[in-house]
Amino acid sequence: FGTAPAAAAAATEEPIQPAVEIKYTQLLINGNFVDAASGKTFPTMDPRTGEVIARVAEGDSEDIDRAVAAARRAFDEGPWPRMTAYERCRVLLRFADLIEQHADEIAALETWDNGKTLAQSAGAEVPMLARCMRYYAGWADKIHGLVVPADGAHHAQVLHEPVGVAGQIIPWNFPLLMFAWKVGPALACGNAVVLKTAEQTPLSALYVASLLHEAGLPDGVLNVVSGFGPTAGAALCSHMGVDKLAFTGSTGTGQIVLELAARSNLKPVTLELGGKSPFIVMDDADVDQAVELAHHAVFFNQGQCCCSGSRTFVHERVYDEFVEKSKARAMKRVVGDPFRNGVEQGPQIDEEQFKKILRYVQSGVDSGATLLAGGDRAGNRGFYIQPTVFADAKDDMKIAREEIFGPVQTILKFSGVEEVIRRANASQYGLAAGVFTRSLDAANTLSRALRVGTVWVNCYDVFDAGIPFGGYKMSGVGREKGVYALRNYLQTKAVVTPIRDAAWL
Ligand code: NAD
Repeated sequence: FGTAPAAAAAATEEPIQPAVEIKYTQLLINGNFVDAASGKTFPTMDPRTGEVIARVAEGDSEDIDRAVAAARRAFDEGPWPRMTAYERCRVLLRFADLIEQHADEIAALETWDNGKTLAQSAGAEVPMLARCMRYYAGWADKIHGLVVPADGAHHAQVLHEPVGVAGQIIPWNFPLLMFAWKVGPALACGNAVVLKTAEQTPLSALYVASLLHEAGLPDGVLNVVSGFGPTAGAALCSHMGVDKLAFTGSTGTGQIVLELAARSNLKPVTLELGGKSPFIVMDDADVDQAVELAHHAVFFNQGQCCCSGSRTFVHERVYDEFVEKSKARAMKRVVGDPFRNGVEQGPQIDEEQFKKILRYVQSGVDSGATLLAGGDRAGNRGFYIQPTVFADAKDDMKIAREEIFGPVQTILKFSGVEEVIRRANASQYGLAAGVFTRSLDAANTLSRALRVGTVWVNCYDVFDAGIPFGGYKMSGVGREKGVYALRNYLQTKAVVTPIRDAAWL
């Protein structure tokens, strides 16, 4: 086994110098970039080399206090919730324009800090950030309640009001998209925000937050605190001045977040957590297309996706051909410097994830799965991993049960629809699933039977801003994107008044 020699070589070449200057490394509090109260900083690394890109202010509980106080003032006394919804809409639209004007710098920062390919940052994620902001700008002046006629001589106005100060904690795998999904709906509804970025990827959010101020966002409405989970993150979850929490990350941390929220002021929490999503290939599938889509479903973003289609279930009638072709596809995958044209896979985010993934690979070998491709690091520095494929996996193996969060495909054989439904659903997770078939009956049966928040039929990873996203079971609580995300950031108030003349009820 192994990866194509060209792929391994690409990971050993001199890293390309990104064409972007790092302008923002401080915390954004009340419209100003400031040092952490403690004066502390932490390094953010280039995953291609493990070298330091920049040192960034390390916020902790004192900085969270300052940021929440600024957000509180901006919400309780400032113009943002009081201006017309149309004015809020226009700020978000100007922000989207500025994102497009600065697209090259934003994409380069994201690739540098995260390791994802520049083609993906520039071609998909920056445009999706702008698109998401425009989507929620469009909602800003269409959020309204309703009137309910009541029994007796009363009626009720049901008002939809902003919830107040939203605390938001985002992970490192899609820093810009997570910014978009969280900040977009919160601001459209008129809230103030304290956002804590992931310690691995603090740079892009600080940059785009500066553009949001250039677009006219009043001071204190969006505060960005870089820092670590157990300090800054936990302080945000426990804060009595925070009215609502939104978190994306691992299921274990989600449980801590929920507990901290419950023990402080019972703030409502939405959670986007982990997954072990099934990708089901039926026996009528075009095998070449199925191989390509299943490959994409696992290896996209270096496998660092909560909805990665990481359990590839293949019908026994096409299994052997599928396995052979999946091996060939993985061996062809171009691993290398994410700034280089034609590269499909960059490095993993950091050494911790890199080592964790290699431990999972070892456990796959130890438990008797057939290693067909990859299985080791690629190159000799940074956090590159060879595209790895296991076949003949069994449901009870660790590689088939736990979230690997890396470029590791696990192929399992099945022989019937009922069987695959039972096995696909036998997971603590329920985030997403893929179904690949020409049969409408199979597509309909599987889509309804799978206990997951998203089913992609003959496609995968389609993330339009209007489509709700979230998990069943331990994959999360609530939905993001689309109209559903607005509910996370609104309170409902009933105002009941008498009507003197019952004829007008
Ligand atoms: P994590 O869940 O610990 O981190 C996500 C965010 O939560 C970060 O901003 C982090 O600083 C913050 N955080 C951590 N501990 C916290 C705490 N006690 N209180 C409040 N906030 C806290 O994830 P990780 O450690 O970076 O990665 C570990 C695993 O999580 C990965 O291997 C992967 O399986 C999974 N993961 C999932 C997603 C996803 O989108 N579902 C994203 C990143 C990581």
